[in-house]
Amino acid sequence: PLILGIESSCDETGVGLVRGTELLTNTVSSSMEEHVRFGGVIPEIASRAHLDAFVPTLQQALSDAGVTLEDVDAIAVTSGPGLAGALMVGVSAAKALALATGKPLYAINHLVAHVGVGLLDESIAAMTQGGQLPENLGALLVSGGHTEILRVRSIASDVELLGATIDDAAGEAFDKVARLLGLNYPGGPAIDKLAREGNAKAIRFPRGLTMPKYMGTAEAPGPHRYDFSFSGLKTAVARCVEGYEARGEEVPFADVAASFQEAVLDVITAKAVLACKEQGITTLLLGGGVAANSRLRELAHQRCLAAGITLLVPKFSLCTDNGAMVAALGAQLVMNGVAPSDLAFAPDSSMPVTSISL
Ligand code: ATP
Ligand code: MG
Ligand code: FE
Repeated sequence: PLILGIESSCDETGVGLVRGTELLTNTVSSSMEEHVRFGGVIPEIASRAHLDAFVPTLQQALSDAGVTLEDVDAIAVTSGPGLAGALMVGVSAAKALALATGKPLYAINHLVAHVGVGLLDESIAAMTQGGQLPENLGALLVSGGHTEILRVRSIASDVELLGATIDDAAGEAFDKVARLLGLNYPGGPAIDKLAREGNAKAIRFPRGLTMPKYMGTAEAPGPHRYDFSFSGLKTAVARCVEGYEARGEEVPFADVAASFQEAVLDVITAKAVLACKEQGITTLLLGGGVAANSRLRELAHQRCLAAGITLLVPKFSLCTDNGAMVAALGAQLVMNGVAPSDLAFAPDSSMPVTSISL
């Protein structure tokens, strides 16, 4: 089936076209630059930017793919989780298109789409059974808004949450610490770059929720065995920088960046691999904007290799927010005979990952 996918949950306006598991086009317009001077995404600005960008992005996608709205079999749109006002723009546009064309509409979960997008990646397709996600699949989603370990029994019908952050998301921690270090938003790429000049062992920052009282054992798991916490780490970095300043010493910014990054990625990769081993997961898919991090890719590769887990990393343009991922999940729902959504649905800014579509 030919599926039109629409994404507007944060600061990217995305329209993608997918035929089955074949990517036809992935057009993205981002309002990121408009948020730089505020040091983070301003919801009102993001919503208005979606309104400006939607029609041109749709027209570009259709013309790049050489198809018309009439050719489309179904429309898929992100209905959550995300910023309420931003979601409303994409959802309203999708409903209008569905109503005007009579095509079925699928209101889908953004996080599950970050996993489904793996089906579109050529290098992943070459490693797996053509057109299908592997069995015993886990996913590690790390972005500005989410840090989660998932078990995916079926992308169309069965996604389970194994662990998640109890406070800040990993990308959010990168963005907040970057600001402490005087780096611009988005902080992830800036820290990634600066960390390459620093010593990751210079400062031992805390590893959140790794103490025995949280971890427990495989037989008697603690309350947060697969969960994450990054707000204590952020505070530790702030105290560390203040300490250098109070002593009148120069802040070793590169060492702080490298040590902070290592603290985040050490816990994320260790817990993801632990969850895989204990839960019989043999393939791990990495997704979300933080998956662009060079050290995360390196560490995940090392640890998965050592544990006998196959690591799948979609290419960067598919990891960050986009419309093709929404179309890819929509195609899976259509192909698995899932019923389309009732057009009366409302976006759900805190849609749980276990809810694949509305
Ligand atoms: P959502 O959480 O809903 O998926 P989002 O827009 O916040 O939405 P993404 O666009 O997937 O998420 O990712 C953006 C985040 O990824 C930002 O926090 C950014 O700092 C982080 N990021 C991007 N590149 C890197 C990198 N090289 N290293 C670390 N973090 C990075
Ligand atoms: Mg974004
Ligand atoms: Fe996302």
